[in-house]
Amino acid sequence: MRTRIVVLGAGFGGLELTTLLSDALADAVDIVLIDKGDTFVFGFSKLDVMFGRQTAADVRHPYRDIVKPGVRFLQTAVRSIDPAARRAVTDAGMFEADVLVVALGADYDVAATPGLAEGDHEFYSVAGAFALRDMLPRFEGGAAVVGVCGKSFKCPPAPSETALLLHDYLVARARREATTISVVMPFGTPVPPSPDTSQAILTAFQERGIRFVKDNLVRAFDAGRKVVTLSDGSEMPCDLLLGIPVHRVPQVVVESGLAAHPHDWVPVNKKTLETNFPGVYAVGDVNGVGTPKAGVFAEGAARVVAAAIIAHVRGGPSPEAYAGRGSCYVEFGHHQVGRVDVDFLSGPKPTGTFQEPSEALVAEKALFGSSRLQRWFGK
Ligand SMILES: Cc1cc2nc3c(=O)[nH]c(=O)nc-3n(C[C@H](O)[C@H](O)[C@H](O)COP(=O)(O)OP(=O)(O)OC[C@H]3O[C@@H](n4cnc5c(N)ncnc54)[C@H](O)[C@@H]3O)c2cc1C
Repeated sequence: MRTRIVVLGAGFGGLELTTLLSDALADAVDIVLIDKGDTFVFGFSKLDVMFGRQTAADVRHPYRDIVKPGVRFLQTAVRSIDPAARRAVTDAGMFEADVLVVALGADYDVAATPGLAEGDHEFYSVAGAFALRDMLPRFEGGAAVVGVCGKSFKCPPAPSETALLLHDYLVARARREATTISVVMPFGTPVPPSPDTSQAILTAFQERGIRFVKDNLVRAFDAGRKVVTLSDGSEMPCDLLLGIPVHRVPQVVVESGLAAHPHDWVPVNKKTLETNFPGVYAVGDVNGVGTPKAGVFAEGAARVVAAAIIAHVRGGPSPEAYAGRGSCYVEFGHHQVGRVDVDFLSGPKPTGTFQEPSEALVAEKALFGSSRLQRWFGK
């Protein structure tokens, strides 16, 4: 009997997991990988498209290219999940599993921030970032705000990267002097686990005249009055909002009972990433393991779950516990990329080490992307 594995979500976590399982167990498992979309887009590619560095077509990687022994990709929406029965109902029928992996990522609650949904004001979704690519060339100047709307959000360096890339973009269009740029973040520093990374970003902000508004959130945007209201009650002028919407647990996951409510990420065993339901794992942004919401962490989680499934099928020793470590590349603008290596779980508090921006890291980031495409899509 082949082990039936159903993976819900073909993002960073789902793609890495199915690749590892196909490599190790193709003869022993039937894997169904389910996603409602037809293409994968790296998170960082949203910035590349938004600022005109790549086209939308360049960064869409169609799932139809997945050809992996033992894996069947299915484009369909997951409508309900029964974790006790390890079963998912989709528009294409019901799937029962011996091992069920939930890798559905984080959804956005754009409506939670009044004014955010009325126009092209967020860049965290693929549609939002791609729409801004067409809108930004019409921006002639004023107050630009890169604003975080909720405390838990993907890729903590991304708002800072966005401000630095916006600076370059406006310089190239000769509109920088006509624009002020502010970054509103719920933290005291840009990347709290790594003081060196934070300091390097704050120095880059200072050199470019970018204002860092710490310990605050954007609560509302009034496009008519051209202001954002912050969580401390103050207002800031805002002609251009590049917003990071409130993140939430996908509704289908809340309804399954895997998460208690929309802002309570799926509880898992920190070492194994298994949920409270035996044989049901939560990988990536959807879980509440305590690491940042980033692709590299989703990938690390997928590796631990893959090792557990391989041990289960082949009967090997238990895998090592999830370490909660990952490396994030940080765009500094001026065609420079830095790197922060963070460790969230092995010490009493998260720590991070910083590598200064360099040409070598630009190449390393490009290899990070191309090696995933090679591994996941055979490109
Ligand atoms: C601007 C930006 C920049 C970023 N930069 C980086 C970076 O440099 N490095 C990094 O590591 N991370 C970065 N990230 C974060 C990274 O993109 C995410 O953390 C990562 O994609 C999470 O992986 P995941 O597998 O948990 O979820 P996702 O990759 O979001 O995948 C979830 C999948 O589930 C599918 N899905 C959801 N609901 C359903 C449903 N009901 N039915 C069927 N399918 C469904 C979705 O279509 C999606 O494909 C960035 C994010 C943004 C927004």
